[in-house]
Amino acid sequence: MRSGSRTAALAALVLFSATCGSDEATGNREQEDAFRAERILMVRSQIERRGIRDEAVLRALQTVPREEFVPDSERRRAYSDRPLPIGEGQTISQPYIVALMSSLARITPGQRVLEIGTGSGYQAAVLAELEAEVYSIELLPGIAARAETTLGSLGYGDINLRVGDGYLGWPEAAPFDRIVVTAAPPEIPQALLDQLAPDGRLVAPVGPDPWSQRLVVAVRGEDGEIEVQDHGGVAFVPMVPGKR
Ligand code: SAH
Repeated sequence: MRSGSRTAALAALVLFSATCGSDEATGNREQEDAFRAERILMVRSQIERRGIRDEAVLRALQTVPREEFVPDSERRRAYSDRPLPIGEGQTISQPYIVALMSSLARITPGQRVLEIGTGSGYQAAVLAELEAEVYSIELLPGIAARAETTLGSLGYGDINLRVGDGYLGWPEAAPFDRIVVTAAPPEIPQALLDQLAPDGRLVAPVGPDPWSQRLVVAVRGEDGEIEVQDHGGVAFVPMVPGKR
C-alpha cells in the first residue's frame, strides 16, 4: 500500500514536471514563431520597401534573430525601425542601415571582411550569414564580451573577435576584401584604407558629429587609387580613438 502510494506520487511528480517542461517549450516555440513573423514583416516593410533588392542580404536579415542581440528590456522592440540601446552609451544599428551597408559592401561568399565596432554582434552575424570570413574589432571590453557570448550561443563561433582600437585595423589578417565600419570616424582612417585589398570596398559613416555624417563607400581601383562615393546622411555613434 505504502509503496503503491509512493509510486503514484512519483508518477504525479514526473507528469507534473513533464507538463511544466513542455509548457515552457511550447511558450518558447510560440515566442520564436512570433519573432520570426516580426522579422519577415520587418524585412518586407522596412528594407524591401526602401529599395534593397540584394537577395542574400534580405535572406540574412530574415535569418538572424535580432531579439537575441538586444538587452532583455528591448526585446519587444527588437524589430522596430530604429537603433536600440545596448549599454555603455552604444547602440545596435537600425535594421535598414545594417541591410544598406551590407548591400553596399557587395559581399560574396568566402570574402574576408573586417568590421569595426562589434557592438551587439548583430552586423557580424549578418556578415557571417553572407558566408564571409568575418573579423570584428570592438573597443569596449564589456560590450565585446557580451557579443562573444551571444554569437557563440547562436552558432556564430567562427567569427574572429578582438578587443582593440579599430583605427589600427587588424594588420595580421589583412588585406580585407571588404571593410564595414559601424562607428563614425571624422575621416576614413588611413590604416583601414591600407588594409583594403585591390578591388576592395570599405563602407563607413564619416563625419565629425552625428549631424554631419555621410555614409561613404571607398573603392580601391585596379591602379590602387581610392574612389569615394557618397550615399547620403546617417547618424552613428562616434568612433572613439583608443588609448595609445
Ligand atoms: N555593429 C554594431 C553596432 C555598432 S555601435 C551592431 O551590429 O550592434 C558602434 C560600436 O563601435 C560600439 O560598440 C563602440 O564601442 C564601438 N567603437 C567605437 N569606437 C571604436 C574603435 N575605435 N574601435 C573599435 N570599436 C569602436
